[in-house]
Amino acid sequence: MTATESKTQHLLSLERQYDSGVYTKHDVVITRGLGASVWDSEGTEYVDCVGGYGVANVGHGNPDVVRAIQEQAEKLIVLPQTLPNDVRAQFLEELVSVLPQGLDRVFLCNSGTEAVEAAKKFAITATGRFRFVSMKRGFSGRTLGALALTHEPKYREPFGIAVDNEHVSFVGYGNITELEAAVTFETAAVILEPVQGEGGVRPADLEFIRAARRITREKGALLIMDEIQTGFCRTGKMFALEHFCYTSCQDADGVRCGCVVANECLVVPDGITLAKAMAGGVPIGAFAMTAEVADKMPKGGHGTTFGGNPLAMAAGLAAIRFMKREKLAEQAREKGEYFMKRLREIGSSKIREVRGMGLMIGVELKEKSAPYIHALEHDEQVLTLQATPLVVRFLPPIVISYEQIDRAVDAFARVLERVNPKG
Ligand SMILES: *Cc1c(COP(=O)(O)O)cnc(C)c1O
Repeated sequence: MTATESKTQHLLSLERQYDSGVYTKHDVVITRGLGASVWDSEGTEYVDCVGGYGVANVGHGNPDVVRAIQEQAEKLIVLPQTLPNDVRAQFLEELVSVLPQGLDRVFLCNSGTEAVEAAKKFAITATGRFRFVSMKRGFSGRTLGALALTHEPKYREPFGIAVDNEHVSFVGYGNITELEAAVTFETAAVILEPVQGEGGVRPADLEFIRAARRITREKGALLIMDEIQTGFCRTGKMFALEHFCYTSCQDADGVRCGCVVANECLVVPDGITLAKAMAGGVPIGAFAMTAEVADKMPKGGHGTTFGGNPLAMAAGLAAIRFMKREKLAEQAREKGEYFMKRLREIGSSKIREVRGMGLMIGVELKEKSAPYIHALEHDEQVLTLQATPLVVRFLPPIVISYEQIDRAVDAFARVLERVNPKG
């Protein structure tokens, strides 16, 4: 560090110098967070509508999660899954208690993309088939197996034939005719997000989800839902699949709707990929599936060193208990409705559409969203993220206050008014 260089500049240049270079770095250094706020190294507060890309649902510095991590760190941090563990057993019980009935076998891993890799392997061994059907505009992760299911060519093309996706066909999200044609007796699984996240915040329609269940059953293929971004209260339910009930029904206990408890009228997939918010910010992933699917995988057929480690398990246990106790799904639904109502009231001619579910919100503009996202951060101290070039996405911690929502919306209205990329 030179005499004239500030501490912040020094940290920024270190990160720029030594990082792999795959990320476009912002020019702030974020040093701490609490609830839905984060602070930079100069002490400036930001409203965080990035939320760790939809990870920080229970809030930054959640006291329950912090305490669980502290206590577990003193007891035991690492333990392979061949050795049973007290918190892992409790976490699995807690997780299965919030999942739809029947999805009661769980492969634990450390990230979303690993959950998708697991889903593919389990689908292959469960069906004896090797082909997959994925969605246009869908996102499944960045490792080579998950990447093959990811539609956007710019993510795949740099890697050429190393991303082998001869075994994948893509159908229009919502296009039942295309789905019907793509799923064959060679299809191991159809994988879809109940609300597409990276694809621009697009909720699926009920008819499509039902058709996916019917078609996969007819062809003996699995239906896998990717709830990595939508899970754990983000969309106003514990899992987004609960929105796709055959009858409209009320939450039975504020945690899951009556359908999930009874599976009466729910579209239940054969497997769900989970990650992001599941452990309050600690890296974690999981593929939850039926016993029928799990039982076909041979012993030793899959595995991971860090998966199910006691530290992540303790954090996950605390996070899910917090979600249930604080009725976080209901909070996401109410705050999401308010957030979207206020965004619609902006009434700017630059907005094409405000859409979303719960606190998974996208504002599609009629022009590129990047200048507005940049202005929100620089001039208004509101962090948002992009989803496709036209969409500004909001994934705040669900503990965000109404006052913070107002701050974010008022700031957005100002930048829409003020920023003029063309002139
Ligand atoms: C984030 C995400 C992934 C990938 O998760 P990582 O933890 O980044 O590997 C996969 N699918 C969906 C729907 C996601 O939102």
